[in-house]
Amino acid sequence: MNLFKLSLVAVAIMGLSACSLDGDDGRDGVDGIDGVDGTAGTDGADGADGQDGTNGLNSLVIQTALAVGDANCPNSGVQIDSGLDANSDGALTGDEIESTSYVCVPASTEVSNSELLTSLNNDWFVAAAAEVEANKTVWLEATGALTTNSTSSAKVVVTSKENLQRTVTEMRGQAKNVILFVGDGMGVSTVTAARILDGQMKGLDGEENKLSFDNFPFAGLAKTYNVDAQTPDSAGTMTAMMSGVKTDVGVIGVDEDIERGDCSTVAGNELVTALELAEIAGKSTGVISTARITHATPAATYAKSADRNWEDVSDMPAEAVTAGCTDIADQLVNFESNLEARFAGLDVDGIEVVFGGGRRHFLPRDAAFNSADAVSAVEGDRTDNRDLTAEWQSMYTNGVYVFDQSGFDGLSTETTERVFGLFNESHMQYEADRANDVAGEPSLSEMTEKAIQILDNNQDGFFLMVESGRIDHGHHAGSAYNALTDTIEFANAVAAADAMTSDDDTLIIVTADHSHVFTIAGYPKRGNPILGKVVNVGSDEPALAADDMPYTTLGYTNGFGFQNLGNETNADAVYSLNINTGRMDLTSVDTTTTGYHQEALVPLGSETHAGEDVGIYAKGPGAWLVNGTNEQSVIFHVMDYAGDMVEQANNEVE
Ligand SMILES: [Zn+2]
Repeated sequence: MNLFKLSLVAVAIMGLSACSLDGDDGRDGVDGIDGVDGTAGTDGADGADGQDGTNGLNSLVIQTALAVGDANCPNSGVQIDSGLDANSDGALTGDEIESTSYVCVPASTEVSNSELLTSLNNDWFVAAAAEVEANKTVWLEATGALTTNSTSSAKVVVTSKENLQRTVTEMRGQAKNVILFVGDGMGVSTVTAARILDGQMKGLDGEENKLSFDNFPFAGLAKTYNVDAQTPDSAGTMTAMMSGVKTDVGVIGVDEDIERGDCSTVAGNELVTALELAEIAGKSTGVISTARITHATPAATYAKSADRNWEDVSDMPAEAVTAGCTDIADQLVNFESNLEARFAGLDVDGIEVVFGGGRRHFLPRDAAFNSADAVSAVEGDRTDNRDLTAEWQSMYTNGVYVFDQSGFDGLSTETTERVFGLFNESHMQYEADRANDVAGEPSLSEMTEKAIQILDNNQDGFFLMVESGRIDHGHHAGSAYNALTDTIEFANAVAAADAMTSDDDTLIIVTADHSHVFTIAGYPKRGNPILGKVVNVGSDEPALAADDMPYTTLGYTNGFGFQNLGNETNADAVYSLNINTGRMDLTSVDTTTTGYHQEALVPLGSETHAGEDVGIYAKGPGAWLVNGTNEQSVIFHVMDYAGDMVEQANNEVE
């Protein structure tokens, strides 16, 4: 094979060989016309000879050696271009080439010293090499080493280290808008399994599919532990992301000097959040969650609480109320005045967009206050007789309060100044179960789109936090189906936001607060249904475990365990049943149904979070700061750098 290659290359002469075909000489000039006869005049003289014609164009044949790895000759070879040298420069430029042919070295089937990379004509190899090339460009653009139009923040040619440093400094504050997407409980295994399920629902094998944020140019990892906990909860993790300070498990918007549940330790330990900084800087602000809007993740954007469970006054110990602590729902509605009270002379206009669930924490415990969307006989939980939805409406007479799909659909995004949407008395429905809501409720993508349409009316920009709160709940209930279908809808919401904003002025960060004890196991063959039983490569029958029973690819280390609830689309239905952990005979069970709950080993009333790192995915100004393994609190600092949030807020306070 090598001999053949060498002889072939020898035959194809390298370099440039120009065969110069001169043009014909020009024809002689035409004789001059005889003069007109005069009276006895003489004949006119003959005209002068015409000038020689110019030489014709050279016809060139250029042979170029192709290196191993060339797209047209993966194993090297020669490219032969021919054409006329129109500008007579002795070379063939692109538009002068009339024909191109290749003499390629055939693919090798054995590896020799001179030909180690037999993978060069392999599609995966070629695609991955191209990805590395693209990554180089992304990095060069992001660091300002190239002129580019894909990250406007880097329209500088960097020629020195000093220049590079200056460029990096100039890139601070390039993000007019910041959007933080949090997939609650969306660990790496959840992202992978959702990617495969999404692909399979599109008719692909699945593994090769990409969720929207899989395409983001920058990614890194976040260490999620809380100051006092190896495996964290959403309160401590979201406080870290929103405030740049890691703190204890279970507390909202306060640092680690807090004593959980002790109201008296809140004062003096309050943190400032990215949403508050944006608000102070005069930007528009928004909070979206499919969980109760008073739940830990959304609460950490606007509230300070010694306990995440103080969602309304009825959840608080009497001494905390007496000591002056207020519940989380109260803090949401009174966000504007609370923030102004913390900084002398500050005047802000409050949060523009709130979409989520959790109506029960805003209404009195009195059936008279039930909405048309109520599920419970008495919707409200509050024991202080306050109707916070009414208080909000009297505070914001230009604001719109909505609680169902039709109210949501009726919102005018150009004229609505602010909106307060509470679409469920508790958490909003799982995406797969959304059609079963009493009065209808919007999807996460719909809420995200509507929010951006309202928030972008402010020319100074906006901060928006979007949480998919129920990925976490699907896992807690041991339902991969609900967790994954909510993850897919979360990815759709990210895609919608990406499509509506520009990489030039909008930083988008997608991450999770923590993972779950959720695994992708066994050796299932490519394209095997991700919700199915393991079928090994080369087989069509489910593989059997050492106990002679089939097993599923997806499973949980702990939790409620196996249930076969058929076409149920609400994972929480499991909580009315008994814990059912350990091995089950799945031989005649269809594990791909919406109501299937995976087996679990350790019996627990709720499947737990997991302590491993989670992904951070980013695009837009400042996104290049996301790389490597980071404390989760770094996310705040990336947003601050990109949006220059602290400085802009400081300018307003001073
Ligand atoms: Zn959770």
